Amino acid sequence: MSDSKGPSGQNPSADKPQTGRTELSAFGEFGLIRHLTKNTELQHGLTVKGIGDDAAVLDPAGKLQVVTTDLLLEGIHFDLAYTPLQHLGYKAIAVNVSDVAAMNAEARQVTLSLGISNRFSVEALEALYEGVHAACRRFKVDLVGGDTTSSRQGLVISVTAIGEATEDELVYRNGASQGDLICVSGDLGAAYLGLQVLEREKSVWLEHPTVQPELEAHSYPIGRQLKPEARIDLVARFREAGLRPKAMIDVSDGLSSDLLHLCDQSNTGALIREEDVPIDPACYELALTFNMDPINTALNGGEDYELLFCIAPEDKDKLEGFTDVAIIGQMAPAEEGVKIETKGGNRHELVAGGWNHLWPQNAPKED
Ligand code: ADP
Ligand code: MG
Repeated sequence: MSDSKGPSGQNPSADKPQTGRTELSAFGEFGLIRHLTKNTELQHGLTVKGIGDDAAVLDPAGKLQVVTTDLLLEGIHFDLAYTPLQHLGYKAIAVNVSDVAAMNAEARQVTLSLGISNRFSVEALEALYEGVHAACRRFKVDLVGGDTTSSRQGLVISVTAIGEATEDELVYRNGASQGDLICVSGDLGAAYLGLQVLEREKSVWLEHPTVQPELEAHSYPIGRQLKPEARIDLVARFREAGLRPKAMIDVSDGLSSDLLHLCDQSNTGALIREEDVPIDPACYELALTFNMDPINTALNGGEDYELLFCIAPEDKDKLEGFTDVAIIGQMAPAEEGVKIETKGGNRHELVAGGWNHLWPQNAPKED
């Protein structure tokens, strides 16, 4: 690669005018909002009024509503050197829909607010909204509003998602009890490893801008990092199987931290087994090349956006057909603590973000 593009092949922060670059000033605030939101489709009759008035109007259809919000800051939550804006728009919606799914509810609407500087062109924001619209279609949510304001420098994205469920369907973090089976969907640790690959390629590129980044070989973990999916499919399948998890959370901070939240709020302990924690085989090998213990990427990596949930043991049969759900352990009395049994048969206390506590020799370098 001989030009000055980052590993993702784009450079949204270029100061130099490029061909096809439209300055934000060409539109003005209201024109920009109209331009960015003109392709917004409403998919639900439950959205009575979307973008365009002082507030959106929603019909909860007699159900309870859930509301969740996430703030994404450039330099803290994402790095535009390797994050394509389409993916960022998609991820901003997906992570909020994931929080709604973790309540066993269905997301219906989202709002999206932006802080932008003139470093961004209209085309860059169009790319962001392409991702937003793609996620809205994929997760069947309506974009019903937002706010647009200028920021001195960094990009700020705030998304709020609104969802619905009946009282019987809603699942909280606090409903688990001793003996419940601990289940997790998909595999864990890949998003964290994807980030490691992107960071590695970024530092290679900063030193040798002409070197082609090696991304294709790791498209799975990179995709898990840049464009995560919310597991709304599982919520639908729970309904079909007549299965109501007793407690649930989405894995955003890492299995350790999120299991500790379930245990803390449910007032239980837990015992999980290392050998049952799902890790993609290629990611297992990739972790080793980073000199990391693969189980640590699953326990402490985060951003997997899989669902971690507990079911009553008598509901185990209802999990039949859920081929991508693993039972990784069982809830225990609170006094027994929250532990992992390693493949070697040793038991360790789980600590949130506990790299250094579990396997000190594999702690990442601080430099
Ligand atoms: P107000 O002055 O009431 O804040 P705005 O002019 O900011 O209204 O917004 C006009 C309409 O456009 C509202 O429906 C608002 O929700 C929507 N909107 C504003 N910014 C965005 C955005 N970035 N994405 C989607 N909708 C937006
Ligand atoms: Mg406004």
